[in-house]
Amino acid sequence: MRKKLVVGNWKMNGSLARNQVLLVALNAMVRPGSVDVVVCPPYPYLSQAQALLKGGVISVGAQNLSAFNEGAYTGEVSGAMLRDSGCDWVIVGHSERRSANGEADGVVAAKVQAALDSGLRPILCVGETLEQREGGVAEDVVGSQLDAVVSVVGAVLVSSVVVAYEPVWAIGTGKTATPEQAQAMHAFIRACLVLRGVAAQGVKILYGGSVTAVNAPQLFSKPDIDGALVGGASLVAEGFSAICAAAAAS
Ligand code: PEP
Repeated sequence: MRKKLVVGNWKMNGSLARNQVLLVALNAMVRPGSVDVVVCPPYPYLSQAQALLKGGVISVGAQNLSAFNEGAYTGEVSGAMLRDSGCDWVIVGHSERRSANGEADGVVAAKVQAALDSGLRPILCVGETLEQREGGVAEDVVGSQLDAVVSVVGAVLVSSVVVAYEPVWAIGTGKTATPEQAQAMHAFIRACLVLRGVAAQGVKILYGGSVTAVNAPQLFSKPDIDGALVGGASLVAEGFSAICAAAAAS
């Protein structure tokens, strides 16, 4: 039985004042239980989140990291720095970074390795565009995104990675994959990992793409959906805590 995990990706949203309100409310609303909960604010607010959530049940993650440890990489942040500022988790290869920042599969794989080397738990995002789904190559795309990581990191270490299946066409669009579409891809991802020698029964596979308190219960009822990576709905305490409660109840 895999414990459910719900991760909030704040993207480039927040301010000290707004975060304070959101984090205090989340701390009060998210109850300890059979779900792990992580919030991923922008870099400048990691310490604020860490301080306000200290002693509670919510952990802190970052939205990205450098593939390098230190040096002349202006504007970059290393895994060691994230650990230093209290992060346990990091999102890697989000589709917005793959498309807007040109992060190819090889870079994403190097970042997963850097995260593991620093003691962070990577949340590896994979997913196809609408064009790729309509062209019938969704599984090929997701399979090769996974392959790139397994070939760099190795099957043993990949078993400690969380995978987030995020169909690009469902992110921030209000269009959710149906629970059946998501389950089918999650089962495919698990089977792919097994084929590559990963102990995949223990790997958590999250769904991401317009998850709300309304659609979460049905998604979480599927056997291979182990939680959610939540964007927009993670910025509202009531909505995000209701998603966490749905995960705990499933
Ligand atoms: C995301 O940013 O990872 C995401 C899934 O966003 P949203 O929930 O807003 O679709």
